[in-house]
Amino acid sequence: MATALLILFLAGAKAATGHSQPVVLDHGPARLVILPQSGSLVLTDLRTGVSWECGSVDRPWASVTLAETGGRSDLPLDRCEVVPEPEGLRLRFQIGSRQGPAGFDLRITRLPDGPGFAFRWQADPALPVARLRLFEELRLGQSGEAAAAFVPVRMGLRVPAEGSQPFHARFETYGYEGCHMAMLGTARLGSAALWTWTNPDVTVELQRRLQAGPTNHPGARLTAAFDLGPAAREIRWIPVGRGDHVQIAKAYQNLARNAGWWVPWSQKLRGHPDRTRYLGAANVKLWSLLDRRMDETSTRELAVHVNWTFDQAARVAEHLRHDLHLDRVLFGIGGWIHRGYDNQHPDILPPAPECGGEAAFRDACRRILKLGYLLSPHDNYQDMYRDAPSWDERWLNKNADGSPTKGGVWAGGQAWIVCSRMALELAARPQNLPAVRNLSGANAYFIDTTFAAGLYECHDPQHPLTREDDLRWKQALSDYARNLFGSFGSEDGREWAVPHADFFEGLAGVGGHPLHNRDLLTRLNAEPVPLFELVYRECIQIYGKYGYDPARAADYVLHHLLLGRPLHYHNLPPGLYWEEDLYERAEPSIAAIQSTGPRAFSIRYAWKIEQPPKRNWRVFVHFCDEQGRILFQNDHDPEPPTRQWTPGAREVGPFNVTIPEGLNGPFSIRIGWYDPATGRRAQLQGPADPERRIRAGRLILRDHHARWEPEPETASANGPDPALFLRADHGWAEGLHPWDRFLKNTQELLGPLNLLTADQPMTEHAFLTPDHQVQRVRFGSDPRRACTVVVNRSTNDFPWLTSAFGPTVLPPGGFVVESDRFIAFHARTWNDITYHQAPFFTLRSLDDRPLTRSRRVRVFHGWGDPSIRIGRTTVRIPREAVVDPQTGRCTQTL
Ligand SMILES: [Zn+2]
Repeated sequence: MATALLILFLAGAKAATGHSQPVVLDHGPARLVILPQSGSLVLTDLRTGVSWECGSVDRPWASVTLAETGGRSDLPLDRCEVVPEPEGLRLRFQIGSRQGPAGFDLRITRLPDGPGFAFRWQADPALPVARLRLFEELRLGQSGEAAAAFVPVRMGLRVPAEGSQPFHARFETYGYEGCHMAMLGTARLGSAALWTWTNPDVTVELQRRLQAGPTNHPGARLTAAFDLGPAAREIRWIPVGRGDHVQIAKAYQNLARNAGWWVPWSQKLRGHPDRTRYLGAANVKLWSLLDRRMDETSTRELAVHVNWTFDQAARVAEHLRHDLHLDRVLFGIGGWIHRGYDNQHPDILPPAPECGGEAAFRDACRRILKLGYLLSPHDNYQDMYRDAPSWDERWLNKNADGSPTKGGVWAGGQAWIVCSRMALELAARPQNLPAVRNLSGANAYFIDTTFAAGLYECHDPQHPLTREDDLRWKQALSDYARNLFGSFGSEDGREWAVPHADFFEGLAGVGGHPLHNRDLLTRLNAEPVPLFELVYRECIQIYGKYGYDPARAADYVLHHLLLGRPLHYHNLPPGLYWEEDLYERAEPSIAAIQSTGPRAFSIRYAWKIEQPPKRNWRVFVHFCDEQGRILFQNDHDPEPPTRQWTPGAREVGPFNVTIPEGLNGPFSIRIGWYDPATGRRAQLQGPADPERRIRAGRLILRDHHARWEPEPETASANGPDPALFLRADHGWAEGLHPWDRFLKNTQELLGPLNLLTADQPMTEHAFLTPDHQVQRVRFGSDPRRACTVVVNRSTNDFPWLTSAFGPTVLPPGGFVVESDRFIAFHARTWNDITYHQAPFFTLRSLDDRPLTRSRRVRVFHGWGDPSIRIGRTTVRIPREAVVDPQTGRCTQTL
């Protein structure tokens, strides 16, 4: 429709009063047509012929809201005078406000540095403009047009036009889970466009409507609109040509460079060699050394708990370095401050006496730094508590009515928001950051919430702030801390913080999910796409935040693998968790099952004992459904008791068991040990489920006859095993604490990948299957250094041809990382070996030569079959080894 109209009218505009003729403005391949009679505007990319149209007779494409005494009024901007200007057009509106008619100008100008237009407004100063709404009902596309919006919420979202649910959502610029970059991407029929602005006072509105369509396939239509607050004067539209979110992000990257926000590592490392430690570093944070909960008024203490003393905190770091051999770690400590986590800010010193006090804190910091780690104490200058010795309302941000701005209710009670201008003053007091720096010698610092919370306005006449001022003062606080400690990070992350920080904590995910608002993906039928990564990858280290269950985190790990980012480990168990004496080097299996009657069988258990058990355990045997729910049991006290068991093989039984009526199986058999006195379970060897039960195959009942069969290798019907990265069967971390297995496996995968690619751009992100469950990303444009990652999150095997190691098959949860110096895979076949148990291996060149020519290849084996073919030799590597591919010589290093 729109295309047909375009042919009828000539480019260039004629002046007209109350005109009704279409007006056309061209700028290279960008075309704009205003159709006054239908209240609409059409933007077309002439390279693709695809248009985005907005507005209608009922709701014109632009409207203004006035805040007048007596209430707000929305006025459509429908009748105007069009004045041609050298750079474009000026639309002059006469607005009838209560004070009488006033002028309102909307200028549409050609962008100076490429195709596209800027829309900029200006009003008679007497006109009380509260809001300008532009591109009303912007038609982003409908079902069948491969149409989508790309919203920069955290890493980014793809919101397709398709979907069976209508929704209405608003994304405030730099708000919490709003737009983390000042842009919106749109794609339709293979054509991409970018909408962008510079002032944070812009909110994007997205809406999906369902419309009648062929039976049970209702059509869906996606629309957008933009609300500009009084401080936001401009929005730009830039057609990108053929493409999708990758091209949109690259177009935006050019603008980010011009804005001074795109500051790459190469620049940040100049004069700060310590910052290279962020590349490839795991984020391990002892969330809270001292937990202390106050009532809401901060007057009564409700609970106090020490999770780690300062000495224990240092011992955790030493354990990571010496036992797990993790050499790159950003080690964070929270709750080290005087009255514990989220308490009595901004008065943080001396360090918590409950954790050992100042001398112990100083010693712990020294020991952590000695490991070569980044040490990042956690602090906060946005929240103030009433029981803080420095409490004074003069520091606080003020609302329009002059009252102090309330924050959340946290461990220390009701928090009050500090004005960001005053926050810098507080942080720079001698007893704050300068004293912490002297005491800790820390080489990193973390100030909570600075990059996470939305922007505030402050109405205190002593220190007023606009939202833009708030942004600048937060940047100033970051710069101050960063200069003092050498590097700096804060929560979540925003593009305006990129030049002022070295790490973001929370942008990559929240507690095991891509977003904090877990319903958003479902409600919008959206999926994560790495928009922020495509723009800013080579500028900053990015992590997720908050704790999660490692036994359910496989998909979260794969999400990080596709981002090429290391994980955050924020909920390690308290104390010296790995020293719990619940680890027993014993593995159960089924020796025999024999049918003894209808629904009855006898069962014998086999035990492989590597070390004598540390106590007398009772054995539990659960016969479960596929979800692990107990249906019946065969718990028993073994004879002799386990303390008397010696290394070697042992059989226990037989026991007679009856299958309850009504249950027909198959039954999953899960075995473990527990202490009847405490109920605590031992950590045994073998394929464990999250409840410390070893999976020992299945009991099948057929024609009243019971028999045993092995466990299917993975629960492929349900997608990847959620506990995949806890596996260590026949691998490096076998027998270790579950958190240590998870830490080791994930960091061996994600650390080297990040180290190799952190300073390279993400150049590709593609969906390889129609359900988008198999994805590929590529880092780097130089083919010699580029790195490709393929991840299979689907429920099916995925065949893939590697570039140098032949065809492979990725199981659900399988992956391949290929680059010239680092390789990782979890696959059923590799380099002409077909595996019975798909292993996880990584290979890294240690002599800085490509793996194909390297003479020293370090091999890490995580789990599964320990055989690998390197060069032409096949070697067996249970844990790790250095291999010379040319001679096949293999030095097992562990
Ligand atoms: Zn203020």
